[in-house]
Order: sequence, then structure tokens, then C-alpha cells
Amino acid sequence: MQSQTSPLGEFDLIQRFFKTQSDLMLANNPGQVKLGIGDDCALLKTDPTGEIAITSDMLVSGRHFFPDANPEWLGWKALAVNLSDLAAMGAQPVGFTLALALPEPNSAWLEAFSKGLFAIANQFSCPLIGGDTTAGPLNICITAFGSIPKDKAIRRSGALAGDDIWVSGFVGDARLTLAALRHEIELSKEDLADIEARMHQPTPRVNLGLALRGVANSALDVSDGLLGDLRHTLKQSGKDAEIFLDRIPKSSALLKQSQAIQNQYAARGGDDYELCFTALSSKRDVIAKISADLHLPLTQIGSIKSMQHSTPEIRIIDSDGKALNIQESDLLLKSFDHFA
Ligand code: ADP
Ligand code: MG
Repeated sequence: MQSQTSPLGEFDLIQRFFKTQSDLMLANNPGQVKLGIGDDCALLKTDPTGEIAITSDMLVSGRHFFPDANPEWLGWKALAVNLSDLAAMGAQPVGFTLALALPEPNSAWLEAFSKGLFAIANQFSCPLIGGDTTAGPLNICITAFGSIPKDKAIRRSGALAGDDIWVSGFVGDARLTLAALRHEIELSKEDLADIEARMHQPTPRVNLGLALRGVANSALDVSDGLLGDLRHTLKQSGKDAEIFLDRIPKSSALLKQSQAIQNQYAARGGDDYELCFTALSSKRDVIAKISADLHLPLTQIGSIKSMQHSTPEIRIIDSDGKALNIQESDLLLKSFDHFA
């Protein structure tokens, strides 16, 4: 597509901030990429024993981030949220495309954005293989490709009655960071420093997703809030769940907050990018080993039940062993919805 001319032209921009780094990555480790940036399309090699996982996520200025957000963090996060989707299905990252709308070709902004983007691309060996660049309101859209052996993808529809429900890492810290930055709650400088990166530079659980192939029956990544997202698994699997509220893993910073804030942020905070997966209880030892190998806490927070009524339900059990009533549950189950 043609774009308006500007001091830093479209092709100079692509070369300087994207193609050079991408060519370097591909020269070192092409993986399944036969052709990267420069032609009308990129080319991926396919494998008859595999499947390709494809996911897109868009970050819109003013909606997902402030217009003056740190561009290095943005570059990181734009790819992180896509790698998190690949992780949730057990896919190995292969490459990604970047569609970028920019109000102006600002070199300092692009330099920092590219730095964050390639930091995570290199960490997960996921090269940039193409994209599009245009003038317009700041908008970052990434499509990522991953490979999975045939029939090994971990899907939302696979949860079985009796499965344990697990969550990785801690949940609620991104929400806690947001609340602290908005001065809605008090957080010490040290605590904020500890958890801030969880919001700005989340770590996609790619290695966990790979380790869970053949172990988990279902999985998804937690982007809009743990319990609300778990409902997607329940819907697609046709199951209910029982969740023990005080087992949901929280950071030491979150544990310093009131009980109500802890529960709210951990259950429905959003932007966590942890994996919530289900597995047979016979897999507990395997899962403990995965946790130790990856140095990543994995916590069993409840179990999958067969569906009692016409729609999936989550029974939330409090620290006294009592089930929360409908109003109390609803408060913890509401997840983020752009159009609600
Ligand atoms: P076309 O006009 O044929 O769509 P472009 O001129 O837009 O191609 O892009 C030229 C090359 O640069 C293509 O290989 C395209 O994939 C790549 N490209 C464009 N924008 C980006 C970007 N933001 N990141 C990575 N590659 C890009
Ligand atoms: Mg183009």
C-alpha cells in the first residue's frame, strides 16, 4: 500500500527499525522461516506432521495504553500478549507480522519500540517476518504464528470432570499496579518496583505451554481476569468448576492489601498473562516437576465438575469453606469487556 511521504520515509523506517534486526535473527536461526521481510509475502516452511497456530492482538492508543506510554514497554507487550496466546495452546513460536499505524515517524519512539520488540522476539526466538506500515492514529497489531505437532494443541474444550484447575505464577499484580499508578490504593515504592513489570512487560508462559502438551486437558491464558476467563473454558467444555478463593496465588505485594481487594484483583484483575489449565489429578507429580524445572509456581485452585444446569457455573468457596452467594460470586466473575 502507498503511504504519505515524510522526512523518515516508510522504507527507510522499515529497514532501520525492523528489517535489520529481523535479518540478523533469521541469519542466526531461521527456524521454519524461508523468507522474511522484503517481498510481497513472507514464506514459512510447513511440516506434514504439524499444525500452525495463528493469533492476532491489537493494541490501540487511548484504549489499551496511554498515548505517551513508554514505547519500549509497548514493543515488548505487543508481542508478549500474542506469545501468551501461542503458549496457551502449547505452540512453539515461529514468527510474527507487525501492522503499525503511526501518527508521525518519530525516530526516538521507533528506536525504543523496536528495542522492546526485539528484546522479547530474541528471548523467545520469534522473528519478525513482515507487516505493514501506515500513517494514522497509533495502533499496533501483531499476528503471531506457532507450530504444534498434529492434534497436540491444548484447547479450551478439553476440560474433564474431576480435572484439577491450575494457574501459573501470581494473578492480580497488573491490576494492583494500575490501581497504584491511578492512586486508588497505597503501595510502597519497593512493592511497586517489584510488580510493575508484570503490567508493562509480562512474561508469556511459552515454556510452560510446551511442557503442558500431553499433560493438560485444557488451557487458556488469563488476559481479562482469571475467573471470567475460566468461564470460557467451562463453556467450551460444558462443565462447572469449584474454586477455592484463598488458594488463588497472590504476590506478597497483593497479600498486603485488604481481603476484599486481594480477592477482587486476583479473581478478576486482568492483564495477568498467566496460564489457567486443567489436568487429571494423576498428573500432579508431573506438574510439580514442570513447576520446579521452570522455576514457576503452579497452584491448584480448584477442580472441574460436571455441569449441573443449562449453563456452566463456578462455585466459589471462601476461607471458611462456605460457598459465596450469587451477588458475592458475580462480583468476582465479571471480567473485562470492551463493549460492556
Ligand atoms: P506491499 O506494499 O507489497 O504490501 P510494503 O511496501 O507495505 O509491501 O512492505 C514492504 C515489505 O516490508 C514487506 O515485506 C512487508 O512485509 C514489510 N513490512 C512493512 N511494514 C512492516 C513492519 N511494520 N514490520 C515488519 N515488516 C514490515
Ligand atoms: Mg504496505
